[in-house]
Amino acid sequence: MKDAFWKYIVIASLVGALVVIAFLQFNAKRSISNLINGNEQALNEFKNATLLEKLRSDILTVESQIRGMVITKNASHISDIEKKIFAVKTDLEQIEKSIFDKSTEKQAQQLRYLVDEKLHFSQKILDEFYLNGKTAAENVINTNRGKRLTDSILKLTDEIEEAKQVQVSGLLHSNDSDSANAANSSIWLAMISGIALFLASVFVILRLNSQSKLIKELDESHRRERQAIELKEQFMANMSHEIRTPMNAIIGFTNILQKGKLDKIQSQQVSAIQTSGENLLTIVNDILDFSKIEAGMMRLESAPFSLRGTLQDIEMMFHEKVRLRGLNLQVNVAPELPDIFIGDAVRLTQILVNLISNAIKFTEHGIISVHVSNASGNDVKLLNDNTEKRVNLHFEVQDTGIGIPKEKLDVIFDRFRQASSDITRRFGGSGLGLSIVKNLVELQNGSIEVTSSPGKGSSFIFNIPFLMADKQFRIDNKSTEDDSFNTLNTEVAHIEGVKILVVEDNILNQDLMRQLLTSWELNFTIAENGKTAIDYLKKEPFNLVLMDIQMPEMDGYTTTKKIRADLKLQTPIVALTAHALAGERERCLSAGMNEYFPKPIREEQLRTLISRFVKLDTFEIYDAPPKFRSNTPSVLAVQSIGKSGGQGADKQLPPNKNGKKTNKVLNLTYLQDISKGNTDFITSMLQQFSAQMPAEIAELHNAISIPDFTLIKALAHNMKTTVAFVGLDKSLHPPLDLIENAALKQDISTIQQAFDKVKTLCEKAMNEIWK
Ligand code: ADP
Repeated sequence: MKDAFWKYIVIASLVGALVVIAFLQFNAKRSISNLINGNEQALNEFKNATLLEKLRSDILTVESQIRGMVITKNASHISDIEKKIFAVKTDLEQIEKSIFDKSTEKQAQQLRYLVDEKLHFSQKILDEFYLNGKTAAENVINTNRGKRLTDSILKLTDEIEEAKQVQVSGLLHSNDSDSANAANSSIWLAMISGIALFLASVFVILRLNSQSKLIKELDESHRRERQAIELKEQFMANMSHEIRTPMNAIIGFTNILQKGKLDKIQSQQVSAIQTSGENLLTIVNDILDFSKIEAGMMRLESAPFSLRGTLQDIEMMFHEKVRLRGLNLQVNVAPELPDIFIGDAVRLTQILVNLISNAIKFTEHGIISVHVSNASGNDVKLLNDNTEKRVNLHFEVQDTGIGIPKEKLDVIFDRFRQASSDITRRFGGSGLGLSIVKNLVELQNGSIEVTSSPGKGSSFIFNIPFLMADKQFRIDNKSTEDDSFNTLNTEVAHIEGVKILVVEDNILNQDLMRQLLTSWELNFTIAENGKTAIDYLKKEPFNLVLMDIQMPEMDGYTTTKKIRADLKLQTPIVALTAHALAGERERCLSAGMNEYFPKPIREEQLRTLISRFVKLDTFEIYDAPPKFRSNTPSVLAVQSIGKSGGQGADKQLPPNKNGKKTNKVLNLTYLQDISKGNTDFITSMLQQFSAQMPAEIAELHNAISIPDFTLIKALAHNMKTTVAFVGLDKSLHPPLDLIENAALKQDISTIQQAFDKVKTLCEKAMNEIWK
């Protein structure tokens, strides 16, 4: 308020000063031009005075020359008398031109008359002299007429001159005042300019000050906003982790319970817990997604994915549910569509899963169909310099369910809105699903609409433009439908050309990858750290990089950043990292990775993952359980817990060295799953474990005795992967997490305690292996 007051004062003064300066400038200019005029006039008057003086002197000269000649009778006195007379006439003409105007016409006539008379009289003396001699001429002179004429001329010219003198002095006086005026104006001008300059400077300084204050405030609020967003992001990541983990455990355990011996009522109760748990997880996921979208934190990925593979996964996911409900799910992709697109397959899956879930939920009998085609007919939009091609994919999810009343069609995409109030009672749900779907479609530059007739069914239609990958893969001996890719001039590669780079320092993990990738007959190379990975990538192209995060020499984040920034490679990179810390996914994605998976990765997950980034039908080499393979992280997590059986359950442990079963600390379900019960592989992994574990324990022990906290943290983190293979993750991840966190705080006593626990358990595990 105070600032604004001063601002207006300064601006008003400045404007005032400018007006005064303009006035003074005008005044000074006028005085100076008056001064110039006055000076010119004064100069003229001086010239006129000189002219009058010359006339007087020329008349007197004529008179004295004639008198001299008469007295001396010597004609030499008048040798140039004609010239002098002419001079007098010229003087008179000039005087008439420059001195007289209308107001002095009388004086002019008088002067002309007197001068003419005087010349006439002089001529008369000369004539008398020549005709009648000296005496006659003297008689004429003595009439005194000549003298009177001369006196009259002198008097008249004096009068004229005097009048002019008065004018000149008036002019000089006004010149004086004009020059004083101009001088004053200059002084005022200088003074006021000075003041204006001062005020302008004050104004500018005030503005600069307030601007720099504003900039500081803006910076500060921007920083706070960023901090708040980061905090919120962190909070969301933590929330999602914290809520999903126990939920997954609940659902996982109900899975295990279902498989056990239950009577009918117990089985119904467990089913109820499971359904409620799944519903709750969906609602939690919806709310988290929704708040992410609201906060503008929903990040879209851009990576190659197989359209048909994604749809197959989704179909598989609903297979059982649809069967149980006696419905029919038909998924169909227009044959002319290419298969590999670049975009966010997870979000696309989420949209379709939501729409199909609704369709199943609201359909009692009949068919649910999903059809994908090109929204613009056979058109492929060429972008940039024709190297990029975009296809506007058209998805239609149609059902033969209860339908939606016409008046509700507009509101069902609003958050928390359901078609009717008894929907919640009958079907449950939060009313968030379609709002998230709409947001996700729009985030991907698409649009969605719905048509429905109550009692007959509904149809949800959405279009999303996706970039086509420039490499399309196709399956051998299955050419007919895919040949149309060629019409799009797309480079066709075969699965044999696919090569995967595994960046992993942990030998156990390397062995595991080797086992899996070899069994799928996939071409791969293992790099033991980021630096080696970069060397490999410089030499040859890979289709996918599976990247560990914590590694010696160069960690996964740095390696990814270098691959993106220095090598300028867009190769998909997937992080595979031990025990997910909250926010880890976001960190990986912001480092430039395309996807993130927590270790220990399961075989099915790895297959789905690879199929998302390279092509996948060829993967059917291996007899995968016909359960769903999904891209949706939460479902994957449920699945993984369900399959692993969870800690504390009655596990089927593999034979140890003596072929006996044991239920002590070791749990080999994971190795069994992965190897499909291949005992050689399990034995070799156990050998590897027992060779690696004591070394890792010794290294950690050394690092603690120094203590080198950075090393402690890295070693503890790494150990998590090793122990997970033999089912020690549930018992050892908590103390290892404790060590990691305590290393950050440099809390050596906590580290020591946790280390003792780790060491004891590991020793116990080793004993079990070698027993
Ligand atoms: P909800 O979690 O309640 O299912 P949604 O946002 O997914 O929330 O759906 C909002 C409402 O739209 C539903 O409650 C239902 O009334 C209606 N709806 C959505 N899909 C269908 C469908 N396929 N058939 C009939 N009604 C539907």
